[in-house]
Amino acid sequence: MNTHAPLIDPFARAIDYLRVSVTDRCDFRCVYCMSENMTFLPKKELLTLEELDRMCSTFIRLGVRKLRITGGEPLVRRDIMTFFRAMTRHLDSGALSELTLTTNGSQLGRFASDLHAAGMRRINVSLDTLDEAKFAQITRWGRLPQVLNGIDAAQKAGLRVKINAVALKGFNEDELFRLQEWCAGRDMDLTFIEVMPMGDLGNEDRLDQYWSLKDLRARLAERFTLIDLAERTGGPARYVQLQETGQKIGFITPLTHNFCESCNRVRLTCTGELYMCLGQEDMADLRAPLRASADDAALEDAIRAAIARKPKGHDFDYSRQKVDGQVSRHMSHTGG
Ligand code: SAM
Ligand code: SF4
Repeated sequence: MNTHAPLIDPFARAIDYLRVSVTDRCDFRCVYCMSENMTFLPKKELLTLEELDRMCSTFIRLGVRKLRITGGEPLVRRDIMTFFRAMTRHLDSGALSELTLTTNGSQLGRFASDLHAAGMRRINVSLDTLDEAKFAQITRWGRLPQVLNGIDAAQKAGLRVKINAVALKGFNEDELFRLQEWCAGRDMDLTFIEVMPMGDLGNEDRLDQYWSLKDLRARLAERFTLIDLAERTGGPARYVQLQETGQKIGFITPLTHNFCESCNRVRLTCTGELYMCLGQEDMADLRAPLRASADDAALEDAIRAAIARKPKGHDFDYSRQKVDGQVSRHMSHTGG
């Protein structure tokens, strides 16, 4: 079958957003994401840049309008700019409305202007603290000045930057207003993410790190008037505007709330596995049908079959005081 009908799942949700992890590797070792000694995939397991192109182009043909590239750290993948430049054709044709990126910012100094030239306009940079020592502690291998330089380069290149910060109890609680003011001063929106129970990192007790965004929001409300925004992205993010500064603050709370009914996305790993839900183990291998033939018909059929079993929602739950619904893979595997 090769009808190019759009992708609609069993719960009548249109799937028009694909997140693609292009590598499992990273130049950082954030404590909530990776263990210190990670074993990475052998190269032959990874989709080549050409295969990534075929994969993404097929999804775009099936109605995907927004592509977010993630990882691991996407900008450490060798020759990744070749892939971004290739995706520009879908922006030019109008098939794709947005090409975007989630990055730790370390390589933006090198790539920001190339990304803009490839048609990218907005990126998310992950940054949990503005304190150099704390930054080194949480990322293990990261250095704050390099990331700040990267953010400078991105803004200079004309990319709109949104900062994503993981809310960590006892770690960046005291920096809530510092981060907010810093972002406001640079005209950047800021989104907080609740720490999620991903993978077995062996060294952290995730229940201890958990800082509820309900609490974070209440702290913000002590200083600002929060206006709820109707804006929806189809994901687990909700936004408020601070009346006093006009700044937008987002909250990604997959654990406190369940926004699965409006989910519009699926996630492709760097080995070609398609996860229909971030919080479930079920996935479809798309690499086999891709490699089996030069024609995309089998791949299209495999994508449709996968979408047909997209689950209604996830099972994360901290409220029972144990990490229920925990999935065993690392965040770097599915790219967040
Ligand atoms: N390396 C890039 C980066 O850090 O932005 C992209 C991949 S990273 C896995 C994507 C996002 O997932 C980052 O914002 C990171 O902070 C977040 N993340 C990683 N592990 C997490 C966890 N256990 N809970 C919540 N967010 C997590
Ligand atoms: Fe690397 Fe991003 Fe994971 Fe940090 S959160 S270890 S930067 S993939």
